Amino acid sequence: MLAERIERLKRERNAIILAHNYSLPEVQDVADFVGDSLGLSIQASETDAEVIVFCGVDFMAESAKILSPSKKVILPEEGAKCAMAAMCTPRMIQEMKEKHPGAWVVGYVNSSAECKAEMDVCCTSANAVKVVRSVEVKEVIFVPDSNLGLYVQSQVPEKKVHLWPGFCPTHQAFTAEMVRRAKEEHPGAEVLVHPEARPEVIALADMVGSTEGILRRALSSDTKEFIIVTELGMVHRLEKEAPGKRFYEIPGSVCPTMKMVTLGSIVRSLEELGPEIHLDPGLIERARIPLERMVAIGR
Ligand code: SF4
Repeated sequence: MLAERIERLKRERNAIILAHNYSLPEVQDVADFVGDSLGLSIQASETDAEVIVFCGVDFMAESAKILSPSKKVILPEEGAKCAMAAMCTPRMIQEMKEKHPGAWVVGYVNSSAECKAEMDVCCTSANAVKVVRSVEVKEVIFVPDSNLGLYVQSQVPEKKVHLWPGFCPTHQAFTAEMVRRAKEEHPGAEVLVHPEARPEVIALADMVGSTEGILRRALSSDTKEFIIVTELGMVHRLEKEAPGKRFYEIPGSVCPTMKMVTLGSIVRSLEELGPEIHLDPGLIERARIPLERMVAIGR
């Protein structure tokens, strides 16, 4: 059994397995910790394990390396890259800074280490509103997700948010029509929406939140049925943590790169201790500042 081999290898290697809520169900089941980007970043910064196997995409494993530079951080599938993170470059951020001098760069963690090095503070979807509210200046440059940036602007009207036109293809594919159809099929269900979705989809939500926010709402609500407007992997986590409640995904809500890490690739990565994330020490030093500011702000 692959799961048993993973358990044995994990002990031999003094490794911890971190998995994002969008990972494959069987990957979530072998992980030591399953969570959102913020929770995983905190776990990565606090673990005593020598090896971190990150079941997610490139920017998540890079963040773990930046926060725990002395550890061996492994991304089992080198090709697992976030399409949104690829939409932004350091040069683009520098140009935005030149256009809006004095504005702070608040960067979604869904970005490369090189981009993080250009940011003043990072955020995740769990704390983006709190982070933007907390910065001392009146103007912020928000990269790379325009939908999350628009949502933040709606919640923090006292600040001017300059947007970057990036997006998550998986969340961008949700339409208001799809959500309306799901509501017709499940009239008693609450609609829980991730803020990477388009504004017109967010407008139909009973609650907007990160994957952990969605989980907390599902656990605390008296409602028994929920329409989940985020990546499909979240439904597995919800069904495990809230048995007895029903969760309906929107058809087609799959991020292909989040599904690349499999049990087989975890076994291989633990055996070979690779592919390892390598980042230049100078880059780590620069990218660490905005990430640590974010971890200090918390949820
Ligand atoms: S779901 Fe979207 S933001 Fe998340 S890893 Fe996939 S492409 Fe990137």
